[in-house]
Amino acid sequence: MRAQPQASHFVNGAYVEDRDGAPIEVVYPATGEVIAVVHEATPAVIEAALAGAAAAQAAWGAMRPVERARILRRAADIIRDRNPDLARLETLDTGKPLQETLVADWPSGADSLEWFAGLAPAVTGETIPLGRDFVYTLREPLGVCVGIGAWNYPSQIACWKAAPALAMGNAMVFKPSEVTPLGALKLAEIFIEAGLPAGLFNVVQGRGSVGAALVTDARVAKVSLTGSVPTGQKVYALAAAGVRHVTMELGGKSPLVVFDDASVEDAVGAAMLGNFYSAGQVCSNGTRVFVQKGIKERFLARLAERTAKIILGDPLVESTQMGPLVSATQLDKVMGYIAKAKAEGARLVCGGARAALNTGYYVQPTVFADVTDDMTLAREEVFGPVMAVLDFDSEAEVIARANDTEFGLAAGVFTADLARAHRVVGQLQAGTTWINAYNLTPVESPFGGSKRSGVGRENGHAAIEHYSQVKSVYVGMGPVDAPY
Ligand code: NAD
Repeated sequence: MRAQPQASHFVNGAYVEDRDGAPIEVVYPATGEVIAVVHEATPAVIEAALAGAAAAQAAWGAMRPVERARILRRAADIIRDRNPDLARLETLDTGKPLQETLVADWPSGADSLEWFAGLAPAVTGETIPLGRDFVYTLREPLGVCVGIGAWNYPSQIACWKAAPALAMGNAMVFKPSEVTPLGALKLAEIFIEAGLPAGLFNVVQGRGSVGAALVTDARVAKVSLTGSVPTGQKVYALAAAGVRHVTMELGGKSPLVVFDDASVEDAVGAAMLGNFYSAGQVCSNGTRVFVQKGIKERFLARLAERTAKIILGDPLVESTQMGPLVSATQLDKVMGYIAKAKAEGARLVCGGARAALNTGYYVQPTVFADVTDDMTLAREEVFGPVMAVLDFDSEAEVIARANDTEFGLAAGVFTADLARAHRVVGQLQAGTTWINAYNLTPVESPFGGSKRSGVGRENGHAAIEHYSQVKSVYVGMGPVDAPY
């Protein structure tokens, strides 16, 4: 199996190679096979990308928004036309099953390009009357934006950052995760085909040091990172030195609260989606499932029954529901958390072992019950198919326990009592929440975290503000009244 791109980077409208950069092997997680090798960006490649972005941005920012929008819209159409091929590449890059990549990854990226294309031409300023004088406001691009991606949704992340950035007249230099470098290069190709002028969306490969070089460059106005909290802390600090705008989409340990009047079938389905989709490698997963004691046994029985039927296997077979984890490193990390959960006294309901499937990085979908708040499994982000079920008695108790974490990315509530649903969601400390649903993230809805889980929002109208700045223009309509 090969998925070698034409070259490692995409800069100024064309593929670029520089073999002086350290090699990065791209591994297909279902077999452990090396399917491509890319090279880290050298200082020369980084310079070309930033210089190209800076040079192209001014004309792009000055263009009529509706013309920019037309290009983004075309890119969305191309993505939709090529979705089967793009989904296959995403599966090779990440190990996620085609059943998911065909519907969730590039399609969501296309939605975001289409939605921001529609929105950008409708962005206007305000007029503020001051009697004789007045102020009007303009929403201007920031300039050159840097996007840095995680490996779990590589192409969706690239689109979610590029779409609002480009729609609002910015240029972007994007660094994918070194674990999944392939999808973003396709996006860069598609943009050129759709008519985007060269230099406005560049892709450079590399590990953290390449990201750091981008973040600290004087030409960069904004940094948008999707990654873990420790990386976010470093990148935020680097960006702060240059007083750059930031969006930080970081990790979580989100609560999913199930009251005993909820539909058990729906709550179990949501808990499974929120723990096993993408083999559990989703930042907003509801990995602390709080179940009220009255339905605990029914919930666990149905959960075990449905989990046993999950089809684990070859991600390129469309009936496969769960693939491997993204890498050997991630596999070791997840198996370490499973061992710790067992050692700390959590009760294993199902799974808990590697799945014996060829040489890939497979872990069985795993459920632990009787998890307590102090266990490592309830405190740290696992990023694998490992669900922790905790019990609770009262509403006040579960709200306090759900909020007792440094994270604040997401939260969900299942109950038939809608007054309670709104009351509880109103008190949960999280940026993205659901009532009787979980992990649905349409582009129309703002997405992001509170507390350590992040700063800023992607998607929705909110993202427009994070990729633009307001200029106020005071207009004097009469003589200047100076006391001198
Ligand atoms: P990571 O933090 O290891 O890496 C993220 C990116 O940052 C990579 O591209 C990496 O090369 C880069 N990076 C690392 N050090 C850097 C530095 N010093 N300067 C600049 N860039 C640097 O994260 P990961 O393992 O790729 O992804 C998993 C994490 O991402 C999880 O914690 C998950 O919760 C989080 N995540 C969050 C969201 C969200 O939207 N909130 C979405 C997906 C993933």
